[in-house]
Amino acid sequence: MKNGRIMNTIGKRWQAIRTGIDAAVLDAGRSPDSVSLLAVSKAHPASAIRELHALGQRRFGENYLQEALAKQEELQSLDIEWHFIGPIQSNKTQPIAQHFDWVHSVDRAKIADRLNIARGGTLQPLQVCIQVNVSGEESKSGTSAADATALADHIRQLPNLRLRGLMSIPAPSDDPTEQQAQFHAVRKIYDHLLSEGHALDTLSMGMSEDFPAAIREGATIVRVGSAIFGARIKPTTEQSI
Ligand SMILES: *Cc1c(COP(=O)(O)O)cnc(C)c1O
Repeated sequence: MKNGRIMNTIGKRWQAIRTGIDAAVLDAGRSPDSVSLLAVSKAHPASAIRELHALGQRRFGENYLQEALAKQEELQSLDIEWHFIGPIQSNKTQPIAQHFDWVHSVDRAKIADRLNIARGGTLQPLQVCIQVNVSGEESKSGTSAADATALADHIRQLPNLRLRGLMSIPAPSDDPTEQQAQFHAVRKIYDHLLSEGHALDTLSMGMSEDFPAAIREGATIVRVGSAIFGARIKPTTEQSI
C-alpha cells in the first residue's frame, strides 16, 4: 500500500482480482507475470482511475470515445497506457488513433485502413488486436474465424499499425466448461495465425466473470471492469461528438 493510505473498496477489489489472476496463472502452470490486468474504467469517473494509478495500475480500457477523451484530459499528468476496447464507428477513427496506445476492437479492413492513415506523424505505431467473434452471435462485433487470417494479412501491410493478437468477448455463460470452450476457439485462431508467420504475443480475453477460464486458455491480457470498479450505474451509451 502506497503512502500509508487506507485502501478503499476499489483498491481492495483491485488487489483481490490481482490475487485471483495470480492463482489462475499458477493453476494453469503458466509463468508469473504472463498475464496483464487491463482495468476497464468505462462509466466510472477519472477519480477512480486516479486511485488505482496510485496503487500501481497503468493500463486502462475505455469503450466510449467522448467519455474517454474527457478522462484523458483530466488525467493527462499521469503515465497511463490507454486501450480502446469498444466498437469503432468509422467517423471516430481519427481521435481513436491519436489518443490511444492500443485498440483491441479492429474487426474490418476499412477500420484498419482509417486508423493507419490517422496514426502516422511522430506517434509510435498503434498496437492493435483483431476482435474475433467465436460465439456467432449476430449482435456482437468481431470478425469470423474464417475472415481473421485475411484481416491479419491486411493489417501486416499497414506501417502505422502493429498487430499484437486477438481480442474476444464470448457469449456470457455461467458454465466454466462452456467458457473455456469458447476461449479455446479463440486460441485456435491465434495458433493458426502464429503458424502463418504472424508475430503475435497478445490474447485479450476474459472479463470479471470468466477470467480464470481465459487464463487457462492462454489469455495474456484480461479486461476486468465491474469486479474492480463495481456495477456500472451510468448508461454506457455513446454520445455523438
Ligand atoms: C465492459 C467490458 C469489459 C469489462 O467487463 P466486466 O464484466 O465489467 O468485467 C471487458 N471488455 C469489454 C470489451 C467491455 O466492453
